[in-house]
Amino acid sequence: MGVRMTRIDLHTHSTHSDGTFEPAGVIRLGAERDLDVVALTDHDTTDGLPEALATGLEVGVEVVPGVEFSAEYLGTSVHILCYWMDAEDPALQLELRRLREDRYRRGELMVDQLRALGLPIAFERVREIAGDATIVRPHIAQAMVEAGIVETEKEAFERYIGDGRPAHVAKHALDPIDAVVLIEGAGGVCVLAHPGMWGDQSSVPDELIERMAAAGMRGLEVDHPDHTPEARERYRALAGRLGLIATGGSDCHGTRYDPVRLGSSLCDPDAFAALRAAAFRGSPAAPTT
Ligand SMILES: [Zn+2]
Ligand SMILES: [Zn+2]
Repeated sequence: MGVRMTRIDLHTHSTHSDGTFEPAGVIRLGAERDLDVVALTDHDTTDGLPEALATGLEVGVEVVPGVEFSAEYLGTSVHILCYWMDAEDPALQLELRRLREDRYRRGELMVDQLRALGLPIAFERVREIAGDATIVRPHIAQAMVEAGIVETEKEAFERYIGDGRPAHVAKHALDPIDAVVLIEGAGGVCVLAHPGMWGDQSSVPDELIERMAAAGMRGLEVDHPDHTPEARERYRALAGRLGLIATGGSDCHGTRYDPVRLGSSLCDPDAFAALRAAAFRGSPAAPTT
C-alpha cells in the first residue's frame, strides 16, 4: 500500500467570473472529490476569495488565494495565474478594477454590435446573468441562447463573439511582462496558464515564455485538460529548461463546459511545495502542510 498522494487543483472559476458554482460550491465539490488543495482563480477579480477561504476552513480543504489575469501578446490573449498575492495591494486592485471596468464597457459594445447586426440582445439581461460577476463573453453567449439567436454558447462564439468574429470587441489587457512585474510586486507568484491554448489552438511563443521567466515568472501550467499528452511533455521539458515549476489544474468552470472537470488535472505535490516556497520566500508566516 502506497501513501495517498496529496490531491491539488490549482485552477478553478466561480460565479465571480465565468464559472457556474459559487465559491463555496467549488470548494465543497473539491472536498467531495477528495481534493486537499484548491486554488480559486477567477478572471480579473479576487472578490470570491473570502467565501472560498471560509468554506475551505469549514470542509478541511486548503484554499490557495488566486486570480487569473488577462494579458495580451500580439493581439491574442495570454492568461496568467497568480497565487498568494496580497489581495489588498493597491496597484494590483487598481489594475483589476481597470480590467473589470473595461470588460463592462466591452460587454456594452458587443451588445451594440450584435444589435447593429439585427440581433435583439438586451444589455440589461447580460447584466442580470452576470450578477455580481465581471461581465465575460459566456454571459453574452448565454443571453444569445436565451433569445433563440443561437443554439449553444459555442455557436455564439463561433459565429459572433469569438476573436475576430463580427461582434467581437477587443478588451484592455496587460502586457504579459507588466503583469508578471505587477504580480511579483504584490507578493504573489505567477504561472503561465494553459500555454498550449493561444489563439486558434496554437501555443504561446517560447520566446515570450522565456521573457516572462526572466521577468520573474515562476511556473508553467503543464497539466491542463486541454493539453494533449504530447503538449504536456513538451511543456514539462520547457519548464525544466527554464527553471519553471510545472503546475497543474482543471480550469473548472462548473457546468459551463461539461463534464464538471474539478480535479481532472492535478498539480504534483512537490511542484506545489516549490511554488509555495517561492511565494513565501522564507517568510516565517509560511504555512506548512
Ligand atoms: Zn484561461
Ligand atoms: Zn481559467
